[in-house]
Amino acid sequence: MAETETVATPEPETVSGFAALGLDPRLVAALTELGYEEPTPIQREAIPVLLTGRDMVGRAATGTGKTAAFALPLLHRLTRPDAPKARPAALILVPTRELAMQVAEAVHKYGRSLGVRVLPIYGGQAMGQQLRALERGIEVVVATPGRALDHVRRGTLALANVTAVVLDEADEMLDMGFAEDIEALLSGTPKGRQTMLFSATLPPRIAAIAERHLTDPARVNVAREAVPTGEAPKVRQTAYIISRQHKLAALGRVLDLEAPAAALVFCRTRTEVEELTEALAARGYRPEALHGGMAQDQRDRVMRLFRAGTADLLIATDVAARGLDVEHLTHVVNFHVPCDIEAYVHRIGRVGRAGREGVAITLAEPREHRMLRNIERATGQRIEAARLPTVADLRARRLELTREALRGAIVEGDLDRFRVVVEALSGEFDVMDVALAAVKLAHRAEGGDVEDADIPVAPPPQEQRFDRGPGPGYGPRRPGPRGPAPGMARLFISLGREAGITPRDLVGAIANEAGLPGRDISGIEVTDRFSLVEVPEEAADFVVEALNGVRMRGRRVAVRRDRGR
Ligand code: AMP
Repeated sequence: MAETETVATPEPETVSGFAALGLDPRLVAALTELGYEEPTPIQREAIPVLLTGRDMVGRAATGTGKTAAFALPLLHRLTRPDAPKARPAALILVPTRELAMQVAEAVHKYGRSLGVRVLPIYGGQAMGQQLRALERGIEVVVATPGRALDHVRRGTLALANVTAVVLDEADEMLDMGFAEDIEALLSGTPKGRQTMLFSATLPPRIAAIAERHLTDPARVNVAREAVPTGEAPKVRQTAYIISRQHKLAALGRVLDLEAPAAALVFCRTRTEVEELTEALAARGYRPEALHGGMAQDQRDRVMRLFRAGTADLLIATDVAARGLDVEHLTHVVNFHVPCDIEAYVHRIGRVGRAGREGVAITLAEPREHRMLRNIERATGQRIEAARLPTVADLRARRLELTREALRGAIVEGDLDRFRVVVEALSGEFDVMDVALAAVKLAHRAEGGDVEDADIPVAPPPQEQRFDRGPGPGYGPRRPGPRGPAPGMARLFISLGREAGITPRDLVGAIANEAGLPGRDISGIEVTDRFSLVEVPEEAADFVVEALNGVRMRGRRVAVRRDRGR
C-alpha cells in the first residue's frame, strides 16, 4: 500500500496562525486551549483589518467562524492598555435570544483570560436581573435589538461609551422586523465607534444601513472563491441535515450503513477530535485520533496504522490530516460543514483516487444550509441532500452484511467439522430452522442485533423553501377554525401569553432551534395558555423535535402537531 508517498509533517503549533494575525497572546492562548488549530478564511481576512479599528461589511454565513472573526479583534482592542475604560464598551446585536446566548458564550470563552465581562440581554429574562448585571459594569453587551432599546429607553443601558458595534446576522434581524430598533440604537452610539456588519446575504436594505452608519468599510466575502471546473474532484457527495444533539448517532448510522473500508472524519478542533474519538470508541468503533496537539511520534504511528490498513477510521483536524495521503481512502465525512469552500474541496479531493468511487458525506445543522449551497455554487457540483438512513434501512443493511459473511463462509469451505452439529439437530428440527438459528447467532456476532432508536431528521434544504422571497411573514394571522394553509402544518406549543410568550419569541426559537427562517413561519396565534404556529409541512416533524423541551422564558416547552380544538 502507499508506502512510497511523501508525508509532509503538519505543524504541531499552528495556532501561531492566530498570533501572526496580531492578536493578544492571551487570546491566542485561549484559542489553543479551545483546540483551534488555525484561523478560518474569514478570520484570516477580517482580524488584521478589524484590529486597525476599521469598519467592516462581511458577507458570511453561519459556520464560517464569523463570531470569532469579530469577537477576537473586539476583545483585543477593548483591553489594550490605552483603551477607554468607560463601560459598556461594545454592543453586539443579534436577531434572537438563542443567538445572544451563543455569541455571549463565545465572547466569554475567548475573553475570560482578559477579565472581560459579557452579558447577554434578550426578551424573556427578568429585567431586574439584567439591570443589576449592567450596573456592575459590563464590557460587552450581546442583545436582541428590541430588548437593548428597552434598556436604553429606561436609562439602564448607556450607549455613550460604546466604541464598537457589531450587527450579526443583519439580514435575519431585518427579516424579524428590527430595522427601526437598529437605526435607533446606532444613532445613539458615539460617532467615532467601530462598526462591523455581518450578514449571510447583502440585499439593498442591508447595503443602505451600511451606507448610512458605516465609514469606509472594508469588505470581506467568504463565499467568494470559485473553484475552476476540472479541478473539483468527482466524488459522490451527500449531505444529511441533522440537529446538533443527534449528530453522533447520525455519524454512527452513516458508518454502519456505508461500512467504509477506510474513512477520514473531519472535526473543527482538537478538543472535538478527542471527544468524538472517545464517543465512537464507546459505541464500539475503533477510531484513531489525529490532531496537531499530539506528539509527532504519536501522529506518525496513527498515520502508519491508517496507511497500512490496520486502522480504518481516522478522526482528524484539517491541519493534522494535511500530510496524510492515503490511496485506499474510500470515505470522507465532514462532521460539520467545513468553514470554507477550499477546505471542502481539499478534503473530498482525498477520496476517489485511482479510478475508485469516492464518497463524501457532510453532516450539516439546519442553520448551515447556506454554506452547503455556497459550496455547490462554487464547485458547480451537486451535494445531494439525502434522508438519513432509518432503523429499517439499517436492519436491512445489517442482514445484507450477515448474508455476505455467510456466503463468504460457504465459498471458503472447510465446513465439514460442523456437519455433526447440523446432523444432530436435524433429527429433532427442520433443517431450515437449524439454518435460521445459525444465521441469528452469526448476525448477533456481527453486531447486527443492536437496537437503534430513530433519529429525527430535518427536511432536505431546498432553495425554493428557504429563499421563498417575502412570504407570509409572521404577522399574527388568526387561523380560526380553518385548517392550516396548503402545504403548511400547524403546531401546538404549550406556552402562551401567561408565560410571557410573544410571536417574536416563537419565531426566534424556531429559527434558532430548527433553522427555519422567519418568513417560513406563519399563522402565529398566541392565546393565554398556548400558542399555534404554521410551518411548511415537510419541516413540521423536525421543528417539533428541535423545539420540544427547549426553554422559552424560563419554562420548558412541549410541542406537537396540532390535532385541532
Ligand atoms: P460561527 O460561524 O461563528 O457560528 O462558528 C462556527 C463554529 O466554528 C463554532 O462552533 C466555533 O467554535 C468554531 N470555530 C470558529 N473558528 C474556528 C477555528 N479557527 N478553528 C476551529 N473551530 C472554529
